[in-house]
Amino acid sequence: MSRAAVTWHPPSLPTSDGREFPVRHAWCVGRNYAEHAREMGVDPERASPVFFSKPARALVHADSVAYPPETEELHHEVELVVFLASGGRCLSPEQAAASVFGYAVGVDLTRRDVQSRAKQAGQPWEMSKGFDQSGPVGLIVPSRDWAPAPESTIELAVDGRRRQAARLGEMIWPVPELLAALSRTVTLEAGDAVFTGTPAGVAALEPGERVRAHVEGLPELDLTIAAA
Ligand code: MN
Repeated sequence: MSRAAVTWHPPSLPTSDGREFPVRHAWCVGRNYAEHAREMGVDPERASPVFFSKPARALVHADSVAYPPETEELHHEVELVVFLASGGRCLSPEQAAASVFGYAVGVDLTRRDVQSRAKQAGQPWEMSKGFDQSGPVGLIVPSRDWAPAPESTIELAVDGRRRQAARLGEMIWPVPELLAALSRTVTLEAGDAVFTGTPAGVAALEPGERVRAHVEGLPELDLTIAAA
């Protein structure tokens, strides 16, 4: 029996200059700010960055995301997200920097209870990170219009109360070095998004709460957590 051709369109995210960025894959790094590594019980001096993934489809540009199923501990992690115009393997930091298309603020939403149970059981914790709508992001600003500076602030507030605040210079692995390290493990490609890690202050969200995530100089992400 013949079937109709399968059609599929990559998820795409809007840019600040009215274009669309087609997302191929979303990479993430854990433990890229020392204070957050400590709050997760890891010595930042001894830990190298941990890479993991979200499905491309998890990235959304929206003013509301649904509280996900199968968790009672949904955590926010505000992050600078980097979007790639090109890729490659074993990139130098200079080559990695030249591969960047642009930047946005994003939130790596995490089912912390699922992650904790998986860690204790020695099981993969992918389902704690890769659920639907787990990567809300703001408008993508092209790299010609904005670049991360060490003094730039990154922060997140819930219902007007600040929960996370740091400067981008606190990253253990700055963007070029982080991309170079990731490219030694996998081939990076055009359309890739890279969540660059979160500072300290991660905590639980409840349905109905309003999340405002901001990186200085980038459009704010203003998000409501809708009922399940
Ligand atoms: Mn994260």
